[in-house]
Amino acid sequence: MLKFSFLGTGSAFNTKLGNTSAFLKKNNSLLLIDCGGTVFHVLQELSLLEGLENLYIVITHTHPDHVGSLGEVIFYSYYILKHKPNIFFPNKELIERFLDSIGVTAEMYNLNSLDVVDFNDAQLGEVSIEFSSVSHVDTIPSYGFIMKLNDRMFYYSGDANNLNNNILDKLKNGRLYRIYQDTCGLDYEGNSHLSLKKLCKIVPKEFRSKVYCMHLDKHITQEEIKDNGFGVVKIHK
Ligand SMILES: [Zn+2]
Ligand SMILES: [Zn+2]
Repeated sequence: MLKFSFLGTGSAFNTKLGNTSAFLKKNNSLLLIDCGGTVFHVLQELSLLEGLENLYIVITHTHPDHVGSLGEVIFYSYYILKHKPNIFFPNKELIERFLDSIGVTAEMYNLNSLDVVDFNDAQLGEVSIEFSSVSHVDTIPSYGFIMKLNDRMFYYSGDANNLNNNILDKLKNGRLYRIYQDTCGLDYEGNSHLSLKKLCKIVPKEFRSKVYCMHLDKHITQEEIKDNGFGVVKIHK
């Protein structure tokens, strides 16, 4: 079974853990979730771009720790691998404006900005992505998504300070096998991320082993995440 691995699991300032980004690779196909400032470097270190023929990049929002090296990855794909990567992001105008401003022109990538996307890759199989808006900051739109990969569905929160009931219900009734949730240690009014304390209030104990915490700040430890019954994503080596 194909499984996602993480290139980084940190929050924007917790660079020791790298920017939070997940990937799925089989042979010459790579599916990448987010592409923050540290990601291109790690992709190179792990030789994940070598010989790629199909590259899919899902973007949750345009904060630097999620798109900081997106330009480099597109350039690498276009100039070195000689093909266009497929970018998935629901706000067409925003991502085009961002990429245009860093010299990445529209002919270097394919953009799909539908809320619900399906594609079939010879290596990865059937993939469908259903984006939904999440609560993060007021300045830019942010999205989470449900991804269905060969008949198994998981939810990926992106950066979010909440976890919607309808997503949690899908976990409770078994439609989702896993949730990846932005979780932080700091807990204060107006936080743009979800504190572990709030997550504990939202998720009943019996479902916590299916919720994996990511985008970790410096104020949270793996021990306290595990002690509360949640999973922690590990960095791929
Ligand atoms: Zn972030
Ligand atoms: Zn963010």
